[in-house]
Amino acid sequence: NGERSSISDGDSILPLPQSNDRRWSDTSAYARKKVLQFWVQLPNGNWELGKIVSTSGEESVIVVPEGKVLKVRSETLVPANPDILDGVDDLMQLSYLNEPAVLYNLEYRYNQDMIYTKAGPVLVAVNPFKEVPLYGNRNIEAYRKRSNESPHVYAIADTAIREMIRDEVNQSIIISGESGAGKTETAKIAMQYLAALGGGSGIEYEILKTNPILEAFGNAKTLRNDNSSRFGKLIEIHFSETGKISGAQIQTFLLEKSRVVQCTEGERSYHIFYQLCAGASPTLREKLNLTSAKQYKYLKQSNCYSINGVDDAERFHTVKEALDIVHVSKEDQESVFAMLAAVLWLGNVSFTIIDNENHVEPEQDESLSTVANLIGCNINELKLALSKRNMRVNNDTIVQKLTLSQAIDARDALAKSIYACLFDWLVEQINNSLAVGKRRTGRSISILDIYGFESFNKNSFEQFCINYANERLQQHFNRHLFKLEQEEYIQDGIDWTRVDFEDNQDCLSLFEKKPLGLLSLLDEESTFPNGTDLTLANKLKQHLNDNSCFRGDRGKVFTVAHYAGEVTYETTGFLEKNRDLLHSDSIQLLSSCSCHLPQAFASSMLIHSEKPVVGPLHKAGGADSQRLSVATKFKGQLFQLMQRLGNTTPHFIRCIKPNNVQSPGLYEQGLVLQQLRCCGVLEVVRISRSGFPTRMSHHKFARRYGFLLLENIAAKDPLSVSVAILHQFNILPEMYQVGYTKLFFRTGQIGVLEDTRNRT
Ligand code: ATP
Ligand code: MG
Repeated sequence: NGERSSISDGDSILPLPQSNDRRWSDTSAYARKKVLQFWVQLPNGNWELGKIVSTSGEESVIVVPEGKVLKVRSETLVPANPDILDGVDDLMQLSYLNEPAVLYNLEYRYNQDMIYTKAGPVLVAVNPFKEVPLYGNRNIEAYRKRSNESPHVYAIADTAIREMIRDEVNQSIIISGESGAGKTETAKIAMQYLAALGGGSGIEYEILKTNPILEAFGNAKTLRNDNSSRFGKLIEIHFSETGKISGAQIQTFLLEKSRVVQCTEGERSYHIFYQLCAGASPTLREKLNLTSAKQYKYLKQSNCYSINGVDDAERFHTVKEALDIVHVSKEDQESVFAMLAAVLWLGNVSFTIIDNENHVEPEQDESLSTVANLIGCNINELKLALSKRNMRVNNDTIVQKLTLSQAIDARDALAKSIYACLFDWLVEQINNSLAVGKRRTGRSISILDIYGFESFNKNSFEQFCINYANERLQQHFNRHLFKLEQEEYIQDGIDWTRVDFEDNQDCLSLFEKKPLGLLSLLDEESTFPNGTDLTLANKLKQHLNDNSCFRGDRGKVFTVAHYAGEVTYETTGFLEKNRDLLHSDSIQLLSSCSCHLPQAFASSMLIHSEKPVVGPLHKAGGADSQRLSVATKFKGQLFQLMQRLGNTTPHFIRCIKPNNVQSPGLYEQGLVLQQLRCCGVLEVVRISRSGFPTRMSHHKFARRYGFLLLENIAAKDPLSVSVAILHQFNILPEMYQVGYTKLFFRTGQIGVLEDTRNRT
């Protein structure tokens, strides 16, 4: 692995043009190289292929395919590759590696349903938004036998298995991309391949069934994706020594709990709510006092109940079957559904004002009694938890009545906590079921499906966390591809003009530095009773304005220069989301419940509270339990994740969304380009191409090709044999370098040797 073939002429290795790069303006140089076609950028930003008719002064006249004639500044022309390179399956093979060439190549393949393309070591996957005939057993078999070698998720999974066994090193498949780009589908495709090759024990079937469960509870319809994952996921699949799957472990990250109580017009809450309402049997409906989705305020607010082409009732049965398979008992399943119904009914709890200070009490109606019934608590205690708050002030406990907005917050916080705990509890059950026994060998392949970089018009705490995670992952990517690469050259004594790559350490430090980094300052402000979103913004500006990655803007706004571009955040809601308070009264309420799930939830929250904390969170605000802030917990998870990934050989898949309307056959150049930039694909191509991407130890090289030597020098050392081979095959000196231990080749140079070897 690592050898690549190339059909390019090899002499035209040119760097990607920078936006105002003058190197592209010298059209006469290209004329000498017999460049026939050029890319012309149209006013709408798209690139079109054209031929030069004439050039005078600074201007060229170009004809584009439909016969249209355009007059453009010569310096804006970008050389196009010869037709023979149309649709190459590795972008590295392109002679001219510029943005339009990359875009065109991906589009050319996309139009023929070849949605996968390599960019050197990275697999690029363009979402087809329709069924493509690339999957299933026949295709799996073809990749297993290596009779099909075109780029594919299967090929990546295959390499991961082989390298795991060969090198005895754990592997990871890191999938990233925007919402709707196809990460989750890609992860499932990889899992299918691993299950097919490593199957046998039956556990692989269980592993595949975790997908419908986690998607039901953790995915929702958003404006960007009908099946959007609202959590990050790492699944570690364990293998026995013989390469058979022996179990798995799932870790989830940062579930978007706000969706349970609040969602935008046209979006939905988590699928499972609609599935339950549509698919529950009459007996279950009666037990849970279930009505239709339209009767629940939490679901009603976004005015969207169904998804095109999706039958929620049918999905409900799939989920129940999957729960059976991962050994969640029928009894537990019923408790799970009861918790879901409790959350829905909580949303319908309303309040009446009882005095002229706006204090409220929950209405004693069907909603309230059903909630009490479902979680198994006393209705009066539920009423108290939703209308009063016990506060401890200097060892005294005082009772504070809640105002309408405080009561609504308490109610919603309870609903969110129940749902989030339920999600975690389910993951735990699944993990228990998939756990590997004592005979674990320690070899594994992990698949990471995590939200990509996000930049919207309004960016809040969620984007802040997600983009922080992406900064970390990007560093991992950079380090792996660039730094390690470069270090390898240097280590082997190769004279290689150092390639500058952008490290994002500055931006990461902005987040992580103590005590004056974004996360520390956020936590500090979260512990101040009087802290507000505005005081937070001011504090950030006061301490971070000198940081080159930070810019304080007006009011509650600040901007971070991320590797993928600048993102402007608004601190509104930051403190509350970071504190994520559930009042001790609510925790107590849950622990007093007669049902086992709420009890389990309460104790899991109490365990969290005993962990070391950043400080007493919001003491005077009412919660006396010390809990980790959301950002700190997330940072901890992220460090753990990076540590785990650090011990693996990574394989990167970048998913690309070709349009924003989830339609097949629509390829928007601008949108694709922006994603290619964000995920570093363009950089990878440039750097790998300009270096010596193929390498082999002297020893291996001599062993592999030594027999081709005409003159018998087999007795000599590997280095001399290697050099003799290079001379015999007339490999040009600029096409390779000899290091201390390895030989380094430019793209495609080893092809000749391989061909001869295969023919011999
Ligand atoms: P999010 O970040 O919102 O979770 P995502 O990157 O996980 O998004 P997916 O849910 O995997 O995106 O994909 C979105 C949709 O695109 C899928 O529901 C499916 O319709 C389509 N899709 C993605 N990949 C493929 C594929 N390989 N073949 C067919 N359809 C696909
Ligand atoms: Mg997803």
